[in-house]
This record gives sequence, structure tokens and C-alpha cells, in this order.
Amino acid sequence: MAQRTDRAASFGQNLYLDTRGAAGKPVPFTAAVVNGLAAGGGLYVPQELPTMTVEEIAALASLPYAERAATVYKAFNIDLPDSTIDELMGRAYGENFDDAAVCPITSLDESTHILELWHGPTSAFKDMALQCLPHFFSASAAKLRDEGALDHEFMILVATSGDTGKAALEGFSGVDGVSIGVLFPDGGVSDIQRKQMVTTTGDNVRVWAVRGNFDDCQTGVKRAFSDAAFAEKLAEECSVALSSANSINWGRLLPQVVYYISSYAELIAQGKIAAGDEIDICVPTGNFGNILAAWYAKQIGVPVGMLLCASNDNRVLTDFINTGTYDISDREFILTSSPSMDILVSSNLERQLFELTGRNAEAISQWMADLSERRCFRVDPETFARVRESFSADSIDNATCLTTIKKVHDEHGYLLDPHTAVAYAAAQNLRGENPVLIASTAHWAKFGDNVYRALHGLEPGEPLPEEVAALTGCQLNERIAQEAERSDIPAGLANLDTMEVRFTEVIDNDVEAIESAAEAFLRR
Ligand SMILES: *Cc1c(COP(=O)(O)O)cnc(C)c1O
Repeated sequence: MAQRTDRAASFGQNLYLDTRGAAGKPVPFTAAVVNGLAAGGGLYVPQELPTMTVEEIAALASLPYAERAATVYKAFNIDLPDSTIDELMGRAYGENFDDAAVCPITSLDESTHILELWHGPTSAFKDMALQCLPHFFSASAAKLRDEGALDHEFMILVATSGDTGKAALEGFSGVDGVSIGVLFPDGGVSDIQRKQMVTTTGDNVRVWAVRGNFDDCQTGVKRAFSDAAFAEKLAEECSVALSSANSINWGRLLPQVVYYISSYAELIAQGKIAAGDEIDICVPTGNFGNILAAWYAKQIGVPVGMLLCASNDNRVLTDFINTGTYDISDREFILTSSPSMDILVSSNLERQLFELTGRNAEAISQWMADLSERRCFRVDPETFARVRESFSADSIDNATCLTTIKKVHDEHGYLLDPHTAVAYAAAQNLRGENPVLIASTAHWAKFGDNVYRALHGLEPGEPLPEEVAALTGCQLNERIAQEAERSDIPAGLANLDTMEVRFTEVIDNDVEAIESAAEAFLRR
């Protein structure tokens, strides 16, 4: 790219710092991916950001998506050979997506563009990262093993409240040197979500239902992660280390930067904007990963005006962006119609603040300590001003979310999922003159119950009519599709009722039960 000189000379030189300055020497991309979290609890951030001119960005439109992604990874100067990057991107973004464009854009009118991030195998946007990260994780681990810096394989262990588990299973299925176990609360996920998980194919995957709620499930998994004796046993007897590959991994963030750069190229190619025109980007936000990726795309060179941060009734980010205080000391966790945004601690905000303070690890460490001790932190006025320069924010309640789905369907014949509906409604409130790109994070058929409520004018949480409630998730989607006269249920969601159920084991939520299940799987 513009600033890159001789690639061989600078190969492997873009190292990763950590946001709390506690991890010691910066590490290369491969180590950042395999480590996930930096020692000392900080998050990895690249020392240098590449820059691209608008012309270079526009030129991406002539390439298939996998090559666009490879171009961006190479610009980041990651420590894997170009040929490896090309090959892995070919596997990450190919036939596994049901649209050749990978993440096509549908325009509702001249200035409202929906970036559809849900054409992957699980119909949610997490596929964009989780179809990619596992290949780079595996290649990174292999490189470190070759260098003698690593002598074991990995087991990914994930506690899920629904969507992440399936996306992780699908991403890691069949990947070398890694196995994956997913735990979900028994009875605590939707029919569709459960069937998506328990029908996953591949020899290196395993799924357990856990007695209790999501919190019990997650607490058990966290205990397994911090059990030193268990780690030692797995290392000695199975040559395996546990890893979480969760959304704070830089290897999950970088694929998300790619689609914002790519979609700007796409908008130019489709004649919807002129090269150089500013766009605003609106993102339905939970952990702050997706919107942070848009911020990075802006630093790299995409002409972005404002980043519009959309929240549901869990409005801690809205309040933070509007006041400079992040306060969860007196905040209840609210269950909403957009469950993947139900979150109190947005982990990736730490990276954003690191960048906005001019990479002040000391300030970040203090704020994160305040957050964990006092459940609250307040940024300094200068940092707050920088937040306000880049972001505006709004929160959308459940009722508005559902009426938005209905309204957009009536006006445009386009069906939004509840998360995207939150973003759409927030964008209507926050947008200015610029065209808006709205990140659409799930296919409507992943959240059929709320889409049904929306289209039938039911209240949020209102019980479905008895006869509708008796339908399987697949049958409900067929009903919605029939009534709305559409035929766009993704194949991966349409056939779930007929697929073989592979995993039926239900285990207790204590750490012993979880550890022995994981161990039995590893010794299979
Ligand atoms: C994970 C998720 C989000 C939130 O994304 P973040 O990167 O955590 O902000 C929004 N919508 C859906 C459907 C998701 O699965």
C-alpha cells in the first residue's frame, strides 16, 4: 500500500502492543492471535496502521472478496507468508458463503445502504470473523510450533447464550491442531440455536447442554480456564492448552476491518457514492468490536464521517458516549428482543480508548481498575472530546425495535432482524447529510419469534398464539416467509428439523463436570 516499501525487508515488523502496557515486549501477529489476551489483562493493538488512498480502496472492487481480505492483511504486514494469506483467505471466504459478494449491500433508498454481514454458514455476522480466524489461529500455532515456541495443540472452550457458539463451531470444525467444545444452558437457547449447534458436523467438535442458566454455564467454564491443575494435566497427558478465541482476539477484529474497507469500494463501484464522499456508519453494538473495526477502517483511509453507535435498552454505551462516564454500578442487565447486544461490559471499548488517548496505557489501566473495583470510570475531558468527534449514540427500546421491523417491511419490502432494526432506528435519529451504511448483523430467520411479533403487531415478550408457539423454529420461519411472500430462508436454517442430532449429553454446571466432559472428549 502507499507506505509499504520492501515487504521482505519489513516482514514481521508490525508488532502488537497491549492496552495496559503490562505484557512486556510487543509480539508479532501470530503470537497475538494464539495468546488472545495479553499477559496482564490488556488487549493487543498493532503498533502501526497501514494507510490506503481512496484510489487504492476503490481498486479493491475489481477483486473477489477473499483477495480484498488478503490485500488488507498484507497491508498490516502480518508475519505469515503472502502465499499462506492468499490460501487461507480463499478458504475463509468461498463457497461457505451463500452470496458470491460474501457481504453484499442492499440499498433501501439513495442514501441508506444495508451491509448484509449474515451470508455465512450460521446466518449471523460473527461468521465474517469466525470463518477466518480459525485458519489464521491454526497457521499461527503451526508457525510457533515450527519455531519451537509452542509444543502443544489447542482446545477452544466456549460458553454461549446462543449465536457465538454455533459460529465458533462452524469456524473451527475440521481445522488442524484445534478442537472445540461448546456449552450452552439447557433449555436456555432457542429451538433454532440448539439445533444449529447439536447438528454440527466434524470430528473435532463437541457440544454439551449444561443444567442451569447462561451465567452458571459461563461461571463453570471460567473456573475451568483458571484451574492450574487442570491446565497442567491437559498439557502433560493430552498435549493441549485451553483457549477461548473470543471477541477480544485481534484475529477476530481484523476480518471486520476488511468488510468496511471493502464495502466503501463496493459503494463506489455500484455508483452509489463518488470516490472520496463521506459516509456515516451505524452499527448495532454489544462488545464494541464491530464499531471499533469501522473506526480502524476510517484511520486506514475510508472516508467516514460519524460512527453511529446503536444500543438496545442496555444503554451503557449510549450513556458513555453522551456523558464520558461508563457506569454499571447501578445498572440492571435487561433481556431484550436483540439478545446479542445484551451486555454491560463492552470489552473492546478498551482498545478504542487506548487509541483515543494517544495510546496511554497508564490511563487505560486506571480506568479498567476503576471499572472492576467501583463498576464505573470517567474519562478525561480531552478524551471525551475525541469520543464526541467520532461517535454519536442512541438507544432503541424493544417496542420501537419491533415497530421498526414492521415499518421497514411495509415501506421497503425488506425484512430486518431485531439487531439491525435497532441500528436502523438509531440511524434515523442520528443521521445527518451523509449517506449511511448500516451494519446488518443477522438474518431475520435467526430471530423468527420476534420477527413474527413485529409483523403481527404483538408487544415485545408477548406470548405467541398457542398454535404458533407450538411450531418448531423452522416451521415458524416458513410461516413468516409464506405470510410475507418471501423465499429467502438460508439453507443452513431451513433444514435443521431434518438434520441428524449428534450431541445430546446434558452435564452439571460445576467445574468438575465441565472438566471431565472436556477431558473425555480430548481422549476420544
Ligand atoms: C455479536 C452481535 C452483535 C454485537 O456485535 P459487537 O461486535 O459485540 O458489538 C450485534 N448483532 C448480532 C446479531 C450479534 O451476533
